[in-house]
Amino acid sequence: MNRRCPICKEKLSTQHMTDYVDYFCNAKDNSHHYSDRLVKGQKTMMKIRVTGPKDKLFLMVNYKDKYSEIWEGAESARIRVDQIVNPNYDDMEALANKIKTYLVFS
Ligand SMILES: [Zn+2]
Repeated sequence: MNRRCPICKEKLSTQHMTDYVDYFCNAKDNSHHYSDRLVKGQKTMMKIRVTGPKDKLFLMVNYKDKYSEIWEGAESARIRVDQIVNPNYDDMEALANKIKTYLVFS
């Protein structure tokens, strides 16, 4: 199955494990990183890194347990959001702003 990165539409790389398959995109321009995990064909989690001129923003969604985590940079604490955050992949600037808003109001 050929799956494509929802952000840049490039073909996702795959890593087949016993119980799941990981898909990931390492953008050549380093503007983002996308990965998700399928268990028996079902998306169980997804992680995005958006890299701007001066910050790195992360969003992780756990579809199975229905929560999201948001954090900034490598060291900062993760903020838990008790819902599934559905990003608009076509507008990375809006996504970055959404993540920043969660960080500010947490
Ligand atoms: Zn991509």
